[in-house]
Amino acid sequence: MRNLVIVLGDQLNEDSAAFDGFDRSKDAVWMAEAAEESTHVWSHKIRIALFLSAMRHFEQRLTQKGVCVFYRRLDDFSNSHSLRKELASAVTQFRPAKLILVEPGDYRVLSELKLAAKKADILLEIRPDRTFFCSTDEFKSWASGRKQLRMEFFYREMRRKHKVLLEGKDPLGGRWNFDTENRGSLPKSGPGQLKAPLQFERDCTTKFVLELVEYRFSRHPGSLEHFDWPVTPEEAEAALADFIEHRLYRFGEFQDAMWTAEPWLYHSRLSAAMNLKLLHPRQVVAAAEAAYYAGNVSLPQAEGFIRQIIGWREYVRGIYWHYMPDYADRNEMGATEPLPKWFWTGKTEMNCLKHTLRQTLDYGYAHHIQRLMVTGLYCLLAGIDPKQVHEWYLAVYVDAVEWVELPNTLGMSQYADGGIMASKPYVASGKYIDRMSNYCSGCPYDPAQREGDKACPFTTMYWQYLEKHRDKLAKNPRMLLQIKNLNRLRPITQSEETL
Ligand SMILES: Cc1cc2nc3c(=O)[nH]c(=O)nc-3n(C[C@H](O)[C@H](O)[C@H](O)COP(=O)(O)OP(=O)(O)OC[C@H]3O[C@@H](n4cnc5c(N)ncnc54)[C@H](O)[C@@H]3O)c2cc1C
Ligand code: SF4
Repeated sequence: MRNLVIVLGDQLNEDSAAFDGFDRSKDAVWMAEAAEESTHVWSHKIRIALFLSAMRHFEQRLTQKGVCVFYRRLDDFSNSHSLRKELASAVTQFRPAKLILVEPGDYRVLSELKLAAKKADILLEIRPDRTFFCSTDEFKSWASGRKQLRMEFFYREMRRKHKVLLEGKDPLGGRWNFDTENRGSLPKSGPGQLKAPLQFERDCTTKFVLELVEYRFSRHPGSLEHFDWPVTPEEAEAALADFIEHRLYRFGEFQDAMWTAEPWLYHSRLSAAMNLKLLHPRQVVAAAEAAYYAGNVSLPQAEGFIRQIIGWREYVRGIYWHYMPDYADRNEMGATEPLPKWFWTGKTEMNCLKHTLRQTLDYGYAHHIQRLMVTGLYCLLAGIDPKQVHEWYLAVYVDAVEWVELPNTLGMSQYADGGIMASKPYVASGKYIDRMSNYCSGCPYDPAQREGDKACPFTTMYWQYLEKHRDKLAKNPRMLLQIKNLNRLRPITQSEETL
């Protein structure tokens, strides 16, 4: 054998650089399902099932095209369940001249595979991941010499370079972003009747995987009842078309809104398909741009959505590879509390957390503001150890891959990187959640109260957080207003505190 091409669970695109120069008569593909990948964090059943089903569909696709695929199944009797060990034994068995791998999405996996190749004394060629708009080298050169790596400036460069929503060299509509028109809350009556997102029927492969996951990972969190994620490129494209037609027109306007029993609202649900490479981000951006030019959606909606993809998504990947491996150990605010056990069950009286956690366990999904300003905000204010927070997010979401999860959790949500990602901690009281959702109306607590029996824990902890970190936060000009408000606050008296 000439080359053994490694295909990981989040590298399921046929146009991958891994296949450049692939010769069916000399080369083969290696794929492996390793339980360790689902247990190193206590993964949600839906997350495990999605990876396995999409991988098995990709294997079938390659095999139908006459590609020789060595595929290690989770239920193979002698599976060691370690990627490194499985690769080592494949090298011993097939004796390829070279291993080929596209940049993985996880530093740990990269290290493991490099180690396996080194031990086996075989050349490992690492090729770039072309599914991103910005390569890791390009990000590094953008970052070098800059004091601050702000997403907004990176985003503008991406727009210019890839000629997205441009009029000559200028942004269409004269502005780079339409944030002020976006991010509204829903009317008190709620979103009204929403069309359900397109669902995908479970074929034999998916049904088999669901049974396997239920059997092998029965004690893992979450339920498989609502599994309806796209597992092939065709399904992912249908999901994209469904979003563009039925939800994009209100995406920007309500992207921060939350509503009980409405997990999707106007969100795309495309992150998992893009992260597994079933769907190319260029296709997604092109479809949103085309919807604008066709007059089907307004500029603020299209721009608001496109910014998430060529802005945030690319930027967090750049941050991850620029700062790893040290990034994962950062803990700027010195947070050391353990993650509450009820994060795995949703058993809490706090209505916002109850709904967000239950939705997470039911669907493996919560949208950005639920992740940032409900679960993330709680952990930040409560001083939970960022590593435990990171491991929880990596485990429970269907789209979780470390390159995107870690900077979002550690940086954006927990401010544990000391401001690399976010120019200030995303802190707010319960009043923010009240403004953006209907959660508070069904809650025993009152978001406006910071003390007393009905005090909202978010509101109480918000002021405590500002007080605790006052000296550090006062140095940040973007926190001055919040610190000023803190200074105006009447202190809680001793007798009130014991009430
Ligand atoms: C604490 C925390 C953890 C997160 N973990 C993940 C994760 O593991 N995997 C993941 O893909 N996203 C993660 N995100 C980002 C974001 O929440 C999800 O991408 C989004 O909720 C996925 O749902 P959607 O496809 O319906 O997105 P939409 O709201 O429809 O957004 C469109 C697309 O934009 C991209 N996007 C939006 N915001 C971000 C962002 N901040 N970073 C990167 N891409 C973004 C996604 O690809 C998404 O599909 C996290 C955010 C936070 C605050
Ligand atoms: S009152 Fe506080 S705890 Fe209750 S739902 Fe609102 S923000 Fe959450």
